[in-house]
Amino acid sequence: MSRGTRALISRSALTHNLGRVRHYAPQANIWAVIKANAYGHGADVAAEALSAADGFAVSSLDEAIALRDSGVSHPILLLSGVTQADHWAEAAALGLHCVVHSRTQVEQIRTQTLPSPLSVWLKIDSGMHRLGLTPENVPAAFSALSQVSNVSVIGALTHMASADVPERDNATRQQFEVFQAASPATLQTSVGNSATILRHADCVGDWVRPGIMLYGATPTTEASAADYGLQPVMAFEAPVIAVRDIAAGESVGYGHRWQASRPARIATLAAGYGDGYPRHAPDGTPVWLGGQRVPIAGRVSMDLITVDVSLLSEEVKVGDMAQLWGPELPVDDVAEHIGTIGYELLTRLSLRVPKVFV
Ligand SMILES: *Cc1c(COP(=O)(O)O)cnc(C)c1O
Repeated sequence: MSRGTRALISRSALTHNLGRVRHYAPQANIWAVIKANAYGHGADVAAEALSAADGFAVSSLDEAIALRDSGVSHPILLLSGVTQADHWAEAAALGLHCVVHSRTQVEQIRTQTLPSPLSVWLKIDSGMHRLGLTPENVPAAFSALSQVSNVSVIGALTHMASADVPERDNATRQQFEVFQAASPATLQTSVGNSATILRHADCVGDWVRPGIMLYGATPTTEASAADYGLQPVMAFEAPVIAVRDIAAGESVGYGHRWQASRPARIATLAAGYGDGYPRHAPDGTPVWLGGQRVPIAGRVSMDLITVDVSLLSEEVKVGDMAQLWGPELPVDDVAEHIGTIGYELLTRLSLRVPKVFV
């Protein structure tokens, strides 16, 4: 039986957040990004709750196969295409849309016979310098692929490096201009990730690719998810399994990292880095318990987290539920204390944490 530690996943929040994407990008079609098991939320259920999207985007062929196996018939976009030459035929058989980002991939497709039609999106490197054809290589790739039977090149896409950063707004605009100049005129376009959708509504293209905003977190520190009208989808909860009082001068946890400067009451929660909560969370990282924020006191261990509940107005009891992040405590706030981003906390949730879909 489970320890009571769990991740509640709200279907209605997912559906609501998809509506926020439509609000911010009313003209665009939506590739709902559900890679990495829907950022840790469960890809099957996310696909169901987001069925009003125009298609889904994932990173690997395995993720696409799993979606098709569970009955998803929407268009599915493979965000980096495939890496092995013999996987293009498989992608075609599944009816996938594939990104082609390199000349290696163009050659792989050109030199084989595909058994079924493949829809291709050319990825253009507009300045992030991670993936994509350089603008000079686009015309040759486009014409080579256009001549392959069973291949239709239907779109061009690019990815923004800094759409979340106000100081980089010029670079974002510049990337958009480079992309527009390099995109063959007959193709559909896809640019907007969450930050672009929320901050650069005129640079999103015909198809947007929202990820993090669907899960109710924000890609930028400029505004909170709530400011954008987004609802947290995941509530990561753990029960209190022990409460103890310690004297001033006593210490808590491995390495005795936290020391009580006054008599203190410590509550121990049944979650730790074995559940995906980062071990490097410093003292003071907030946890929601008893209707308020309480600070982590002592190093996070594999199965347990200790918090200082001395200042709580209500008495904490064994069995009380704490929220590590969720509707009461934005994952973005927790991430900021820990020195990471909400994306990483959500996607790192361990498989041993049962998901409860509500
Ligand atoms: C993950 C990903 C996205 C989604 O990004 P968010 O910041 O989560 O909205 C969009 N496009 C590509 C190519 C991606 O890899």
